[in-house]
Amino acid sequence: MHVPVYTIQKGATPLVLISVHEGRHIPEELHDRTGKPLGINDPADLDRHIGIDLGAGEVTTLLAQAKEAHVFRVTHSRLVVDVNRFQDELECIAPRADGTDIPLNKALTDEQRSARLARFYFPVLNRLKDFVAGVARQHGCEPFVISMHSYARTQKENPTPKSEDICVFGYPEFGTSPKLEKFFRQLRADNPELAIGNNRPFSAKTPALQTAEDDHRMACPVTYYNVVERHNVFNHFCLEICQDLLQTEDAQRRMARKVRQALEAVCGLPPNSTTVHRTAPMEVS
Ligand SMILES: [Zn+2]
Repeated sequence: MHVPVYTIQKGATPLVLISVHEGRHIPEELHDRTGKPLGINDPADLDRHIGIDLGAGEVTTLLAQAKEAHVFRVTHSRLVVDVNRFQDELECIAPRADGTDIPLNKALTDEQRSARLARFYFPVLNRLKDFVAGVARQHGCEPFVISMHSYARTQKENPTPKSEDICVFGYPEFGTSPKLEKFFRQLRADNPELAIGNNRPFSAKTPALQTAEDDHRMACPVTYYNVVERHNVFNHFCLEICQDLLQTEDAQRRMARKVRQALEAVCGLPPNSTTVHRTAPMEVS
Protein backbone atom coordinates (compact mmCIF):
# COMPACT_ATOMS: atom_id res chain seq x y z
CA MET A 1 0.00 0.00 0.00
CA HIS A 2 1.38 3.39 -0.98
CA VAL A 3 1.14 5.97 1.76
CA PRO A 4 2.03 9.56 0.85
CA VAL A 5 4.61 11.17 3.12
CA TYR A 6 2.25 14.04 3.94
CA THR A 7 -1.39 14.97 3.45
CA ILE A 8 -2.98 18.34 2.89
CA GLN A 9 -6.48 19.54 3.60
CA LYS A 10 -7.61 22.89 2.27
CA GLY A 11 -9.60 25.13 4.56
CA ALA A 12 -11.66 28.28 4.26
CA THR A 13 -9.93 30.48 6.83
CA PRO A 14 -6.32 31.64 7.31
CA LEU A 15 -5.90 29.22 10.20
CA VAL A 16 -3.26 26.58 9.52
CA LEU A 17 -2.87 23.50 11.69
CA ILE A 18 0.39 21.63 11.31
CA SER A 19 0.56 18.15 12.76
CA VAL A 20 3.90 16.51 12.10
CA HIS A 21 4.06 13.92 14.88
CA GLU A 22 0.68 12.24 14.51
CA GLY A 23 1.83 9.68 11.94
CA ARG A 24 2.55 6.07 12.82
CA HIS A 25 3.36 4.71 9.37
CA ILE A 26 6.71 2.97 8.91
CA PRO A 27 7.02 1.84 5.30
CA GLU A 28 7.93 -1.77 4.56
CA GLU A 29 11.21 -0.71 2.99
CA LEU A 30 12.21 0.27 6.55
CA HIS A 31 11.37 -3.08 8.11
CA ASP A 32 14.15 -5.52 8.92
CA ARG A 33 14.45 -9.01 7.45
CA THR A 34 12.11 -10.42 10.05
CA GLY A 35 9.48 -7.77 9.36
CA LYS A 36 10.11 -5.58 12.39
CA PRO A 37 9.58 -1.87 11.63
CA LEU A 38 13.01 -0.19 11.87
CA GLY A 39 14.13 -3.40 13.59
CA ILE A 40 12.37 -2.36 16.80
CA ASN A 41 12.13 -5.37 19.05
CA ASP A 42 8.97 -4.67 21.02
CA PRO A 43 5.98 -3.60 18.87
CA ALA A 44 4.52 -1.84 21.93
CA ASP A 45 7.27 0.77 21.58
CA LEU A 46 5.66 1.94 18.35
CA ASP A 47 2.63 3.11 20.32
CA ARG A 48 4.68 5.13 22.76
CA HIS A 49 5.44 8.81 22.49
CA ILE A 50 8.78 7.97 20.91
CA GLY A 51 6.88 6.92 17.78
CA ILE A 52 3.77 9.07 17.72
CA ASP A 53 2.11 12.07 19.40
CA LEU A 54 -0.93 10.13 20.62
CA GLY A 55 -4.22 11.98 20.18
CA ALA A 56 -2.70 14.92 18.32
CA GLY A 57 -4.16 13.89 14.98
CA GLU A 58 -7.66 13.46 16.38
CA VAL A 59 -7.69 16.84 18.11
CA THR A 60 -6.32 18.41 14.93
CA THR A 61 -9.20 16.89 12.94
CA LEU A 62 -11.83 18.15 15.38
CA LEU A 63 -10.35 21.61 15.56
CA ALA A 64 -9.97 21.84 11.79
CA GLN A 65 -13.63 20.91 11.32
CA ALA A 66 -14.77 23.49 13.82
CA LYS A 67 -12.58 26.31 12.49
CA GLU A 68 -12.44 25.41 8.77
CA ALA A 69 -8.68 25.38 9.02
CA HIS A 70 -6.08 24.32 6.50
CA VAL A 71 -4.25 21.22 7.70
CA PHE A 72 -0.85 19.75 6.93
CA ARG A 73 -0.06 16.32 8.35
CA VAL A 74 2.95 14.03 8.23
CA THR A 75 1.95 10.40 7.82
CA HIS A 76 5.12 8.62 8.86
CA SER A 77 6.31 8.03 12.39
CA ARG A 78 8.79 10.48 13.85
CA LEU A 79 11.10 7.48 14.19
CA VAL A 80 11.44 7.33 10.40
CA VAL A 81 12.52 10.97 10.35
CA ASP A 82 11.52 13.68 12.79
CA VAL A 83 10.79 16.70 10.59
CA ASN A 84 10.66 18.84 13.71
CA ARG A 85 14.38 18.40 14.26
CA PHE A 86 17.05 19.94 12.10
CA GLN A 87 18.72 17.56 9.70
CA ASP A 88 22.05 17.50 11.51
CA GLU A 89 20.51 16.72 14.92
CA LEU A 90 20.90 13.18 16.22
CA GLU A 91 17.20 13.05 17.10
CA CYS A 92 16.24 13.73 13.49
CA ILE A 93 16.82 10.04 12.76
CA ALA A 94 17.10 8.78 16.29
CA PRO A 95 19.36 5.76 16.88
CA ARG A 96 17.82 5.46 20.33
CA ALA A 97 14.71 7.03 21.79
CA ASP A 98 13.83 7.09 25.48
CA GLY A 99 15.58 3.82 26.25
CA THR A 100 14.60 2.00 23.05
CA ASP A 101 17.16 1.08 20.41
CA ILE A 102 16.16 1.81 16.82
CA PRO A 103 18.45 -0.67 15.03
CA LEU A 104 17.82 0.42 11.44
CA ASN A 105 18.47 4.03 12.38
CA LYS A 106 21.59 3.14 14.31
CA ALA A 107 23.02 1.20 11.38
CA LEU A 108 22.64 3.97 8.78
CA THR A 109 25.67 4.92 6.75
CA ASP A 110 26.06 8.57 5.76
CA GLU A 111 24.71 7.74 2.30
CA GLN A 112 21.72 5.91 3.71
CA ARG A 113 21.04 8.78 6.09
CA SER A 114 21.09 11.23 3.20
CA ALA A 115 18.74 8.97 1.25
CA ARG A 116 16.33 8.81 4.19
CA LEU A 117 16.32 12.61 4.44
CA ALA A 118 15.83 12.95 0.69
CA ARG A 119 12.83 10.65 0.78
CA PHE A 120 11.05 11.60 4.01
CA TYR A 121 12.41 14.93 5.26
CA PHE A 122 13.15 17.54 2.61
CA PRO A 123 10.02 16.89 0.49
CA VAL A 124 7.85 17.35 3.59
CA LEU A 125 9.43 20.59 4.78
CA ASN A 126 9.60 22.01 1.25
CA ARG A 127 5.95 21.23 0.59
CA LEU A 128 4.98 22.64 3.98
CA LYS A 129 6.75 25.91 3.20
CA ASP A 130 4.91 26.12 -0.14
CA PHE A 131 1.65 25.22 1.56
CA VAL A 132 1.85 28.00 4.14
CA ALA A 133 2.91 30.46 1.42
CA GLY A 134 -0.07 29.33 -0.65
CA VAL A 135 -2.49 29.94 2.22
CA ALA A 136 -1.02 33.43 2.67
CA ARG A 137 -1.52 34.16 -1.04
CA GLN A 138 -5.03 32.73 -1.04
CA HIS A 139 -6.20 34.84 1.88
CA GLY A 140 -4.06 37.91 1.30
CA CYS A 141 -2.68 37.82 4.85
CA GLU A 142 -0.26 35.88 6.97
CA PRO A 143 -1.92 32.75 8.30
CA PHE A 144 -2.32 31.99 11.97
CA VAL A 145 -0.23 28.86 12.45
CA ILE A 146 -0.74 26.36 15.24
CA SER A 147 1.68 23.50 15.52
CA MET A 148 -0.20 20.62 17.15
CA HIS A 149 1.55 18.16 19.48
CA SER A 150 1.04 15.88 22.43
CA TYR A 151 3.55 14.67 24.99
CA ALA A 152 4.04 11.94 27.55
CA ARG A 153 3.59 12.79 31.24
CA THR A 154 6.55 10.61 32.08
CA GLN A 155 9.34 9.04 30.08
CA LYS A 156 11.50 6.06 30.92
CA GLU A 157 14.62 8.22 30.95
CA ASN A 158 12.84 11.18 32.51
CA PRO A 159 10.47 9.64 35.06
CA THR A 160 9.61 12.83 36.93
CA PRO A 161 6.02 13.56 35.86
CA LYS A 162 5.51 16.80 34.00
CA SER A 163 3.17 18.91 36.11
CA GLU A 164 1.69 20.80 33.16
CA ASP A 165 -1.38 19.39 31.40
CA ILE A 166 -1.07 21.71 28.44
CA CYS A 167 1.75 23.91 27.20
CA VAL A 168 1.43 26.85 24.84
CA PHE A 169 4.75 28.01 23.47
CA GLY A 170 6.43 30.19 20.92
CA TYR A 171 9.69 32.06 20.46
CA PRO A 172 10.18 34.17 23.61
CA GLU A 173 13.32 35.68 22.07
CA PHE A 174 10.99 37.95 20.09
CA GLY A 175 9.29 39.18 23.22
CA THR A 176 5.77 38.60 24.42
CA SER A 177 3.38 37.34 21.80
CA PRO A 178 0.00 39.03 22.41
CA LYS A 179 -2.06 36.29 20.80
CA LEU A 180 -0.21 33.50 22.54
CA GLU A 181 -0.67 35.34 25.85
CA LYS A 182 -4.35 35.91 25.20
CA PHE A 183 -4.96 32.31 24.22
CA PHE A 184 -3.02 31.11 27.25
CA ARG A 185 -4.90 33.37 29.67
CA GLN A 186 -8.29 32.43 28.22
CA LEU A 187 -7.53 28.71 28.28
CA ARG A 188 -6.37 28.99 31.88
CA ALA A 189 -9.37 31.07 32.96
CA ASP A 190 -11.80 28.62 31.32
CA ASN A 191 -10.07 25.55 32.76
CA PRO A 192 -8.89 26.21 36.31
CA GLU A 193 -8.60 22.47 36.91
CA LEU A 194 -5.81 22.21 34.35
CA ALA A 195 -2.18 23.20 34.81
CA ILE A 196 -1.33 25.21 31.71
CA GLY A 197 2.23 26.30 30.99
CA ASN A 198 3.30 29.36 29.05
CA ASN A 199 6.58 28.45 27.33
CA ARG A 200 6.90 25.73 29.96
CA PRO A 201 7.91 22.89 29.91
CA PHE A 202 8.52 23.37 26.17
CA SER A 203 9.61 26.33 24.15
CA ALA A 204 11.26 27.14 20.83
CA LYS A 205 14.30 29.05 19.75
CA THR A 206 15.89 30.09 16.52
CA PRO A 207 18.81 27.94 15.37
CA ALA A 208 22.23 29.24 16.40
CA LEU A 209 20.68 31.57 18.94
CA GLN A 210 23.08 32.03 21.84
CA THR A 211 21.28 31.42 25.12
CA ALA A 212 22.13 30.74 28.73
CA GLU A 213 23.43 27.30 29.62
CA ASP A 214 20.26 26.36 31.43
CA ASP A 215 18.09 27.35 28.45
CA HIS A 216 16.85 24.08 27.02
CA ARG A 217 14.62 25.47 24.31
CA MET A 218 14.48 23.41 21.14
CA ALA A 219 15.02 24.79 17.68
CA CYS A 220 12.11 23.54 15.57
CA PRO A 221 12.34 23.50 11.78
CA VAL A 222 8.58 23.27 11.24
CA THR A 223 7.83 26.50 13.02
CA TYR A 224 11.12 28.09 12.08
CA TYR A 225 10.58 27.79 8.34
CA ASN A 226 6.91 28.68 8.50
CA VAL A 227 6.88 31.31 11.18
CA VAL A 228 10.25 32.88 11.94
CA GLU A 229 11.37 32.87 8.33
CA ARG A 230 8.09 34.46 7.31
CA HIS A 231 8.41 37.11 10.06
CA ASN A 232 5.10 35.92 11.41
CA VAL A 233 6.06 34.99 14.97
CA PHE A 234 3.11 36.72 16.59
CA ASN A 235 0.55 34.86 14.51
CA HIS A 236 1.65 31.56 15.80
CA PHE A 237 2.02 29.21 18.71
CA CYS A 238 2.73 25.58 19.40
CA LEU A 239 0.20 23.66 21.40
CA GLU A 240 1.33 20.67 23.42
CA ILE A 241 -1.30 18.59 25.21
CA CYS A 242 -0.44 15.83 27.64
CA GLN A 243 -1.47 12.58 26.00
CA ASP A 244 -3.14 11.27 29.16
CA LEU A 245 -5.84 13.88 28.51
CA LEU A 246 -6.49 12.53 25.01
CA GLN A 247 -7.07 8.84 25.64
CA THR A 248 -10.70 8.53 24.54
CA GLU A 249 -12.81 10.06 21.79
CA ASP A 250 -14.80 11.93 24.42
CA ALA A 251 -11.64 13.30 25.96
CA GLN A 252 -10.35 14.38 22.54
CA ARG A 253 -13.65 16.14 21.83
CA ARG A 254 -13.58 17.88 25.19
CA MET A 255 -10.04 19.07 24.61
CA ALA A 256 -10.79 20.25 21.06
CA ARG A 257 -13.73 22.24 22.45
CA LYS A 258 -11.54 23.87 25.09
CA VAL A 259 -8.96 24.84 22.48
CA ARG A 260 -11.61 26.15 20.10
CA GLN A 261 -13.24 28.27 22.80
CA ALA A 262 -9.95 29.81 23.85
CA LEU A 263 -9.04 30.41 20.20
CA GLU A 264 -12.29 32.24 19.60
CA ALA A 265 -11.41 34.56 22.42
CA VAL A 266 -8.17 35.53 20.70
CA CYS A 267 -9.19 38.80 19.16
CA GLY A 268 -8.79 39.16 15.45
CA LEU A 269 -8.70 35.46 14.60
CA PRO A 270 -8.36 34.91 11.72
CA PRO A 271 -5.67 37.53 12.04
CA ASN A 272 -4.84 40.34 9.73
CA SER A 273 -1.39 40.79 8.27
CA THR A 274 -0.44 43.96 10.07
CA THR A 275 1.64 42.31 12.77
CA VAL A 276 4.92 44.15 13.02
CA HIS A 277 8.00 42.02 13.32
CA ARG A 278 10.47 43.38 15.82
CA THR A 279 13.61 41.92 14.39
CA ALA A 280 15.57 42.25 11.22
CA PRO A 281 15.22 39.48 8.65
CA MET A 282 17.34 36.52 9.51
CA GLU A 283 19.81 34.62 7.40
CA VAL A 284 18.92 31.02 6.90
CA SER A 285 21.64 28.49 6.58
ZN1 LIG B 1 5.27 16.42 18.92
